[in-house]
Amino acid sequence: MKIMVSACLLGDNVKYDGSNNYNQELIDFLKPYEVIKVCPECLGGLTIPRIPSEILHNKVINEAGTEVTNEFMEGALKTLEIAKENDIKVAILKRNSPSCGFNAIYDGTFTHTITKGNGITAQLLSENGIKILNEDNYKEYFKRRGIIEDNSFIIKKLCELKYTNKKLTLPLGWKEDGEPFYRDFKNVPGLFITGATGTGKSILIDDLIVSLMYKNTSDEVKFIMLDPKKIELGEYDGIKYLLSGKSHSTLKKGYDMLIFLLKILESRINTLNKNNYRNIDEYNKNMEEKWPHIFLFIDEGARIIKMADTYLVLSKLLDHGLNVGVHVVFATNSYLKDYATSKFIDKFKYRITFDLATTEQEDYLNIENASVLNGCGEAIIKNSQGEKYRFHAPLVTDEEINDIVAKNIDTTIEEI
Ligand code: SF4
Repeated sequence: MKIMVSACLLGDNVKYDGSNNYNQELIDFLKPYEVIKVCPECLGGLTIPRIPSEILHNKVINEAGTEVTNEFMEGALKTLEIAKENDIKVAILKRNSPSCGFNAIYDGTFTHTITKGNGITAQLLSENGIKILNEDNYKEYFKRRGIIEDNSFIIKKLCELKYTNKKLTLPLGWKEDGEPFYRDFKNVPGLFITGATGTGKSILIDDLIVSLMYKNTSDEVKFIMLDPKKIELGEYDGIKYLLSGKSHSTLKKGYDMLIFLLKILESRINTLNKNNYRNIDEYNKNMEEKWPHIFLFIDEGARIIKMADTYLVLSKLLDHGLNVGVHVVFATNSYLKDYATSKFIDKFKYRITFDLATTEQEDYLNIENASVLNGCGEAIIKNSQGEKYRFHAPLVTDEEINDIVAKNIDTTIEEI
């Protein structure tokens, strides 16, 4: 990862008086990273030493009263160019400076008074999607991002980090700027996950299952798991969240479970209609016995969808599941075009793709650049409005899964 840094913080004598803002702690911290250092004021053609400047009424004026806005703008544009060339997502810039300051700058009176505002370069970088940090707040930011390097109970930490009161807001990992990335699945009837074998699909399914278990009781959410390969989801067998006590690996049983879920969906729709409730929220608010949200997890979905009228059953679940609290998470590493039209893919509000085996799949899924993902947990999520985000899925460990499974085993559940 490359980080852009103000040159004066690294000890370069580029300040207006020919000195620097050397910061040993920051320099030590930056050792594992590739550093791109810049001094925007120098890039703008200003000399060292130079008369100090501050921003007043959107103009940059030096202490002698001369306007130098053009030089500051030129430096900002050159800095942005360097940032783009280096694919910079994060910059650590000197606080309060009329070029590098962010959220706080000197107020234009040359009295060392701070006011709210952004330096010219910091503002431009931020407008172009670059996260701006300074020498005071970078540690906090990287500490949160540092969860990625600490492999113990990552999902639990992400669940605790924020949105603890939103029960179906689940962590998907980290965005490119290192911020944790969450999505609210309350209004999502379907999530489609694809990618070549070993690129991160199954880990993301584990992430969603474990997050749901951390944030909800087994009365609030239930699972149905179909796992034709019997490799990925068998570790959840016996948990009280499973509607049938175990995951299902045979195609026949998988199909039976889809029909079972379809019956629940139809019965819930009838109940809503009879009681004049619009959705599960209204039902749960008014009725004593609450409905849990039901998540259907399908791994290796291509095998299932080849069967009989599975495609139609899944389509019905996706079309009508939202109001009654039925959600489908469908993962596949195979190209579905022989079994399902792209209309089927369009039924999923969110599509997530990890590294794909072919660019043909990319076209079918209508997700560009999926074939250049790193194959190690990097993914793109696209919603039905076409908005796309790149993110990195977390690595949920066996230790974390085993721990939460052990706490939720119920030996009394009977298989359906
Ligand atoms: Fe430091 Fe930025 Fe000022 Fe250059 S422009 S001296 S890098 S604060």
